Amino acid sequence: MASETTTTHATGQTTERNLSLIKPTGPLTLGNYLGALRQMASAQDGADCIYGLADLHALTVTHDPTRLRKLVREISTILVAVGLDRSTLFLQSRVPAHSELAYLLECTAYTGELSRMIQFKEKGRGHPSTRVSLYTYPALMAADILLYQTKQVPVGDDQRQHIELTRDLAIRFNQTYGQVFAVPEIVTPPAGARVMNLADPTTKMGKSHHDGSGIIYLLDAPDVVRRKIARAVTDSDTGATVVRRDRTNKPGVTNLLDILTACAGPRAADGISTYGALKAAVTDAVINVVEPIQKAYTDLADDPCAWSSGSYGGGPSRSPSSFGL
Ligand code: AMP
Repeated sequence: MASETTTTHATGQTTERNLSLIKPTGPLTLGNYLGALRQMASAQDGADCIYGLADLHALTVTHDPTRLRKLVREISTILVAVGLDRSTLFLQSRVPAHSELAYLLECTAYTGELSRMIQFKEKGRGHPSTRVSLYTYPALMAADILLYQTKQVPVGDDQRQHIELTRDLAIRFNQTYGQVFAVPEIVTPPAGARVMNLADPTTKMGKSHHDGSGIIYLLDAPDVVRRKIARAVTDSDTGATVVRRDRTNKPGVTNLLDILTACAGPRAADGISTYGALKAAVTDAVINVVEPIQKAYTDLADDPCAWSSGSYGGGPSRSPSSFGL
């Protein structure tokens, strides 16, 4: 989830605010980096950035608590390792205002609204062992956004319903209790790099997938990256023009070209005419991207103070009250 707002300072100067939450449901992938983390890092140059780990959202379905704790620690460290060191970073469960406001928004939402939410309809309704939180989490998500007085929320179609509910709850709350929340607008984000699974290039390289053979994780060792790319699906085309973009007929090759240019620049594929050369170039480019992240990760992981002394708990200077609530 990502969102933006604009803050006016006493000087009259305005700063865009970027808010983004990552759900720790699996180890971060190259797709997460190229499609989100890299932009989150460059946004720090012009915006007031607030990034969080939405660990409470990972509890709505069966999970392994030990794995979740490990993922939280790993992903928090990666956020700093990729350069998010000029942002406010927080762990949702350590900022009580998220769950406190979620309760107030549950007292604002109607059961009819929550029953229509897609996740609950598709995964929970009618099953007696569905967790209550799978029903109520949209109120928590609304709290995640409204706490930071976010004015714009760039989301894809899959998240639209959540933001529409957030808007409805903000409007109803304001009408009932007085003007408290900014009502966020839904905006369409610019199309970003979409990295596909190397073993099944018609599906996204997602962090929660059960089979990791087509997924490059940010912490994969170089020889693992090499092996996964060597096994990436291509096709049986022959001739001098086999290396070309064609998303419909050559999804595997197109994905490798996309990864290559996202990692090494738009001219990186110039002159490559065989699948072997393409895979070798992709391997080098990906290793060049992940190696510095892994080095920074190891340094940070060796020094627990590097992350635990930061603002993961939502330090007082950046508690939700500093956003006017
Ligand atoms: P998720 O891992 O699906 O919770 O997504 C977290 C962020 O990473 C979102 O901004 C996604 O758009 C982005 N992301 C996840 N997987 C990919 C991918 N394969 N390609 C591009 N962006 C991705």
